[in-house]
Amino acid sequence: MGFRTDTIAAISTAMTNSGIGIVRISGEDAFDVIDKIYKGKKDKILSEQKSHTIHYGYIMDGDDTIDEVLVLLMRGPHSYTGEDTVEIDCHGGVFVTKKILETVIKYGARPAEPGEFSKRAFLNGRMDLSQAEAVIDIINSKNEYALKSSVNQLKGSVHKKIKEIREEILYHTAFIETALDDPEHISVDGYGDKLRGVVDKLMTEIKKLLDTVDNGRIIREGIKTVIVGKPNAGKSSLLNTLLGEERAIVTDIAGTTRDVLEENIQLQGVSLNIMDTAGIRHTEDIVEKIGVDKARANAEEADLIIYVVDSSIPLDENDFEIINMIREKRAIILLNKTDLSTVVDKDELKKWITKPMIEISAKEETGIHELESTLKEMFYHGELSFNDEIYITNARHKAALNDAYQSLGKVMDSIGNQMPEDFFTIDLMDAYESLGSITGETIGEDLVNEIFSKFCMGK
Ligand code: GDP
Repeated sequence: MGFRTDTIAAISTAMTNSGIGIVRISGEDAFDVIDKIYKGKKDKILSEQKSHTIHYGYIMDGDDTIDEVLVLLMRGPHSYTGEDTVEIDCHGGVFVTKKILETVIKYGARPAEPGEFSKRAFLNGRMDLSQAEAVIDIINSKNEYALKSSVNQLKGSVHKKIKEIREEILYHTAFIETALDDPEHISVDGYGDKLRGVVDKLMTEIKKLLDTVDNGRIIREGIKTVIVGKPNAGKSSLLNTLLGEERAIVTDIAGTTRDVLEENIQLQGVSLNIMDTAGIRHTEDIVEKIGVDKARANAEEADLIIYVVDSSIPLDENDFEIINMIREKRAIILLNKTDLSTVVDKDELKKWITKPMIEISAKEETGIHELESTLKEMFYHGELSFNDEIYITNARHKAALNDAYQSLGKVMDSIGNQMPEDFFTIDLMDAYESLGSITGETIGEDLVNEIFSKFCMGK
């Protein structure tokens, strides 16, 4: 894959007035460029300075002083991109930062494309593709769990696992190929049986990774949640209580001009995306407010159903309809209005359905903490247990794992049908290739470009 080592530059910080702005330069002329525009106290020449040092001074365009700065020097290969890299820390105004970038470009760099620094890091072997993708996931992560999982991926969790599986595939493919080339000395008799065990183990490992996809999506995007319950059970009160908590950060995910359709709530690192909040809030029509039909449609898509029960009055046909609807779903039952005298309690409900049940009062804001810990338990098995667990959070990785799984399935078929050994190797190599696309070893330039073009500017 050919690529350029010309010198690129970009603003790596956000384009808004702030304390510090960073302009990053990378490539073979990075030090030449900074030499032309840097002026220190003495006649210091930065290209003669040691790597990984920081220098105070000014950025100059000829005699014109642009800003007072700190300059960080990182010589390749010990930099993010693997190339000579210079970072200029300047004052974080939009205008001044742009002006410094313009000066850097005037003296020999060219503007970087989005993600070009990371692309170079990948092409220079500083990280594999799954790690480069983790970088952007870290930047985009919206909660504690997403961050943790992306950092693990950056540290190489996915890379390592895929590498192990690929090595095993390659070993057996090579053995078969060699044996077929040299049948007098190496025999493949009975190799199918041995291979069956290996492929079965590899398929189990891939399946295990694929099984994390659902949780991976939840980690990344939040738990798609619907709140159901009969009219006046306290759905909107609950929503308001959750939104009104000091710790809640509220953002509109998809909103029309008037109605917010989905709201994101952060509860101790767990992200809930509450669906159809407009339906809960704005519908005055009592029949519509039951929302059972609507809830049914939403429930199909949801990861979680929060069923609010009015514990101060008996269960009615609406409740039974809901109970039947949520039986097969991941659901939490909230016994609301526990500040009033109780008519429906846990024991009463358990006769009808077993799901985690929590007593709350949306009005008095009690039981919310227990709701949070129950959610953590349901979706993340309690605390952040990411130490050896790998979560597949990337759709591209999922597709590649699926392809590899299919190819290995074909190997199993060939073994079962006692096909000639060269049939095994074709499908083994297909699996090998598919997995290689995750780490970026078997991927075309176009796709690489497409992946990095989705990165931010300056990263
Ligand atoms: P929805 O129809 O399910 O959205 O129910 P609302 O949230 O509109 O609540 C219906 C009524 O019940 C309102 O008068 C609320 O103030 C009241 N309510 C909701 N939650 C509680 C609670 O925990 N305790 C008490 N005492 N009243 C509640």
